[in-house]
Amino acid sequence: MSVAIYPGSFDPVTKGHLDIIKRAAAQFDRLIVCVMVNSEKHGLFSHQERVELLRRVTRDLDNVEVDASPMLLAEYARTRNASCVVKGLRALSDFEKEFQMAMINRKLNPGLETMFLSARQNYTYLSSSITKELASFHVPLNDFVPDEIVDEVQRRMEQELGR
Ligand code: ADP
Repeated sequence: MSVAIYPGSFDPVTKGHLDIIKRAAAQFDRLIVCVMVNSEKHGLFSHQERVELLRRVTRDLDNVEVDASPMLLAEYARTRNASCVVKGLRALSDFEKEFQMAMINRKLNPGLETMFLSARQNYTYLSSSITKELASFHVPLNDFVPDEIVDEVQRRMEQELGR
């Protein structure tokens, strides 16, 4: 069985992420979308909330599982018997860091491949941080995050701004 992991922060999941999830899920028997837990970063959503948002937007995708992990990605992949890491590339600026990560992951786990999927053209500008920035200016998020979570992201940002 081919198993791949799509790691990220997903704070929150965007339409760009969801596009990569759907396209990667079509290439593998199982795709594990994993929220990588990085204790230094304080996000808009907690790690568990990000998992719940991801589960909500992927619920119709039968071979997609959502998880969270504090482990090193190369180790996590080993524990899940995954042979591939999926990454989305938006621009050349993503490439340098992602290429370095791919080399490091292969060094730590020689069986682990990295597959890059190019972002769909209308999502190349999209990131979680841009989404949060726009939300903080009350810009409607319908073009940026999946429909099921638009209200929740907007509401959370209003709470954050009200603090
Ligand atoms: P962000 O940069 O939005 O905060 P993450 O750190 O959660 O995203 O990124 C997880 C993965 O998703 C990375 O491989 C990243 O390059 C990819 N990705 C993020 N946004 C997009 C997008 N709009 N289209 C394609 N891939 C994307």
